This record gives sequence, C-alpha cells and structure tokens, in this order.
Amino acid sequence: MIMPMKNCFASSYLFLCFLVCSGCSNSDQPAEESVRRTNQRGEFVYRHQGEFLFAAAPADPQTPPTYPWEEGQSSNQLRITKEYFRCKGSILNPPRIVAENGKELQRYHDCGGAEKHSLPLRNNKEFIYPILIDLLNYIQNKSGKRVVVTSGHRCPDHNTYVDSSVQNSSSKHQVGAEVSFYVQGMENQPEQIVKYIIDYYKETSKYQGLKEYQEFSRFTKGETNVSTPPWMNKEVFVKVFNKKEGRDFDNRHPYPYLSIQVRYDWDLQEKVTVTWEKAYKNYLRF
Ligand SMILES: [Zn+2]
Repeated sequence: MIMPMKNCFASSYLFLCFLVCSGCSNSDQPAEESVRRTNQRGEFVYRHQGEFLFAAAPADPQTPPTYPWEEGQSSNQLRITKEYFRCKGSILNPPRIVAENGKELQRYHDCGGAEKHSLPLRNNKEFIYPILIDLLNYIQNKSGKRVVVTSGHRCPDHNTYVDSSVQNSSSKHQVGAEVSFYVQGMENQPEQIVKYIIDYYKETSKYQGLKEYQEFSRFTKGETNVSTPPWMNKEVFVKVFNKKEGRDFDNRHPYPYLSIQVRYDWDLQEKVTVTWEKAYKNYLRF
C-alpha cells in the first residue's frame, strides 16, 4: 500500500523531532560541567621580589625639522619649486579635433605628460627660469595665500594641443620661461598680484639701483590678446587675462589669471628667445 503524501510528511517531522530532542538531552550535563570547571585557568601575573614599575617620562613633543621646500612658508603653503612647472599633458586627454562645416580639418594629440618627458634642460639639469619660481614664492609669502600654477612648461606637443594658433607656436612656456597662475582666495584681484610683482623688484637687494628692473611700464603699442595693457620691466612681461580671455586647455577654469613671461635672462645677460632647437631638442623623452 502506498502511504498518502500527507502522512509521509508527518512521519518525517516526528523523526526529526526525535533527533533534535535526543541531541539536547541533559542527562550527562553534570559530568560535562565538572570537566569544564577543571579546565578553567586564569592568567596570572608573576612578579619577582623587588620588582617595581618605571614611571613613564613626560611627553616632550619636538618640532620636526623644516624641509627646504617648507622654509619661509606658513603651514598651508608648500614652497613653489620647479616640480609645479611640469607639463600638464596626459595620454588620457582625448584628441582635439578642429572641424569646419562638419568636416575634420585637423586632429591634435596631447603628449604623455611629465611621466614621458622632462622639463627643459640647462647644463644637463632640469631648468625653469628662477625668477618665475622666486616671484611665485614672494606672492605666496606676501598674500599668505596659495599660488595655483595652471601652466608651466609645455612641451611643443602639449603647447599645440592646448592652443594651435600661430601666435602660440612661439610660446615661452616651451622653454620654461612662462607661467600661468592664479592665487586661491584672491582670484578676482589679479591687479593686486601685479602690485606684489612690482614690490618684489623694489624689495630684492640684487635689483637695488637698477632702474630698468625697478620701474615698470605699460605695454600699449603692440598687439596682445588681453584687454588690460600688460606691465613690463627689463626682466618680465606680466599679463592679466580676464574671465573671458586666454581660455586655452590648461586655463579652462572660471577665474581671471596672470601670466609672467621672462624677457631677459639675468644669468646669461641676454634676451630670452624661443627657437625650434630650444623647444624641441632641449628635453628628455622617457
Ligand atoms: Zn608635454
């Protein structure tokens, strides 16, 4: 005879109950308990006679040594070094396509950035014009605010990628003689930053008595891509770009910004020029 399905379940259930109940029988509990108690041990601390605790010396916090790049800076400002000038190119940047009436005219690829090439070289060392680094640190010290370098060295590939205009092809960014930047917290006061630059020349001892460095004039006669007449002395040329000017790929932020170009090389006592040799052949590819 076949057992009805319902009865089958009922008998299985009873069998399971039997198993569970026999498992939790407490007939042997007293024996187990006694074994457990015997095995219980505490961890004791043993001391030898005459032992005593040393009193901890009071904490004596030491000021950590200052690194060269922290010197003369407040805690939220790291000193600007040539590292801030490394090319901002990246292989992750998509190709920039110039098209007219829907037809592709030109396609520009970015460089591999600082991982793929060095800064410009002078005497076999990476080189950025020191006046740019000194001016940016002076601005940081005087303003107490952070300088943000948006464009330092641009290798020729990155220079064309950010702005392929003819005027930009001779950009001094390619030889480490130009920097674009703004100051955090003073984004809308670029002319105050220009005053700091003029003050630098008045305060720095090596320029004392040198009128052509201490006196700035305004550049009004030539062509520029800015509406504010640039400031210049013998060594530098300073431009202020307002919110709608100079928006290249490196400067695609919403703030006005400044650019400083080096006109005259203090060490070599000669005019700074950009040549194909200096731009293309004067840095290492990795
Ligand atoms: Zn590059």
